[in-house]
Amino acid sequence: MSEQEIFQYLNEIGCCNLCNLRHLGCTNKKFYINFELFLKEKNLNDKDDTEIEPNSKKLKENVCIVCLGLLQNHFINELLEFIEKNTSVNEYDSTNFACAISLPIAQQIRAHSVNLHLKEKFPEYYEQGNYKYVLLENINEIPLKEVWKWVITPKINERLNKSLDNGANCDFLITLNLKYVDEEKELNLLFKVSPETFKERNRNFKKFRGETFTKKSVETFLEQVDKEKFKEHIQCPPQVPNFSINCSNIECTHNSIYLAGRYMKYSRELSQTPWIINGKRMMEASVQEIICAPLASLFNFHIDYIKFISSGREDCDVRCLGNGRPFVLEIINPKKTKFAYEEFRKLESEINKSELIQVRDMQLVPKEDLIIIKQGEESKTKVYQALCISQQQITQENLDKLSDMKDIVLQQKTPIRVLHRRPLAIRPRTIHYMNAQMIPGNSKMFTLDVETQAGTYVKEFVHGDFGRTKPSLSSILGIDVDIIALDVTAIKLDFPKPIENS
Ligand SMILES: [Zn+2]
Repeated sequence: MSEQEIFQYLNEIGCCNLCNLRHLGCTNKKFYINFELFLKEKNLNDKDDTEIEPNSKKLKENVCIVCLGLLQNHFINELLEFIEKNTSVNEYDSTNFACAISLPIAQQIRAHSVNLHLKEKFPEYYEQGNYKYVLLENINEIPLKEVWKWVITPKINERLNKSLDNGANCDFLITLNLKYVDEEKELNLLFKVSPETFKERNRNFKKFRGETFTKKSVETFLEQVDKEKFKEHIQCPPQVPNFSINCSNIECTHNSIYLAGRYMKYSRELSQTPWIINGKRMMEASVQEIICAPLASLFNFHIDYIKFISSGREDCDVRCLGNGRPFVLEIINPKKTKFAYEEFRKLESEINKSELIQVRDMQLVPKEDLIIIKQGEESKTKVYQALCISQQQITQENLDKLSDMKDIVLQQKTPIRVLHRRPLAIRPRTIHYMNAQMIPGNSKMFTLDVETQAGTYVKEFVHGDFGRTKPSLSSILGIDVDIIALDVTAIKLDFPKPIENS
């Protein structure tokens, strides 16, 4: 039995050229991409010109009995046009994409039917694995989807303004949902082959969630089904299908992108995130909203698809000065992923129209950088300036001893004011240094500059929180001290990198 005879036979029963190659065990990508080359190299064209040409021409119109059109030009052209005209695809600015397809399950049954048939028809070729090109144990090992990617990649790259990626590192995924009109009809034949198996799946709704046929269940079934029983109910080789598969819809998803920056907060009446209690807004705006709204409108992002992630937070009544606090914005499924330097500056100036906050250093960062923000929450030190008032009159000499104290470890019991959202615990926190200066002309007020470990409650450190923070500034000075106002003056986290002219 020659390869040519098998080739011709496969054509006669309605296999497409590329499925022929698969069934001949050909693993050479170039022949799939250029089928003419195969005919030429194998001398099939010249030698059997009269024999093969009429057949392949005649069958050109037939939908392939195995791939249901997936590898055929009529479908591929239709698909390319579909992708090309899809507005959603075009809205994404990514220049490359990965592609996922879901094949009809009926295709598995058809492949099984052809394989059974070929083994019987050409036992010396298929049973013994006498492939001429590459010896394969099982013809199913040249997967249809793989071949489809070989074939469609150059065509996509030629026709669309995006190129197809192998998928491993690609952030943009296009999922093509393929439908086959006779799917149900052909799947239902399995009921006849094995009523027990599939009726059970139908009955036991809870276990199988109403999924009578899944890719996996059909695959497992075909691996073990008795071939005589199979042939009794399912035609081998399968009939030429009445319909080609078609693409019913396209779904596009892009992995999140991350924009980073730093914000300064100049208001003592602004929460970081929307503050809503029982559906009622407690404050008009928030840092998050002031940043996200211009971002959404400027670049056409959906506001619900922007996630605000910051490195810690300050209380509503605390300002954040200096170089500000690092934050990251996660944009879910973004269509725009490329930004020019000027676009970020424009975004900054839009946000900075607000008098409540300012942002700087806006830039795109890789996902891995999120870890810097997360770790920073634990490890970064922060510098504060507190305006304090004492019950009694004090002098600069009283305060000077604070400068000599370094790395004092506090035991902080969860403050009463945050007990509703944080578990009760005693946490050790370090005060790295302190410096206090009297306010000129006032014998009770002074400013305190203090550098602390992340997570230190500074207000509580000042007044002691009814003995819940030990030691406290009050206990160190031996006088009752209260805090009037607090500012964050520096957050020592080197992220993101500073941008010039930002
Ligand atoms: Zn085919």
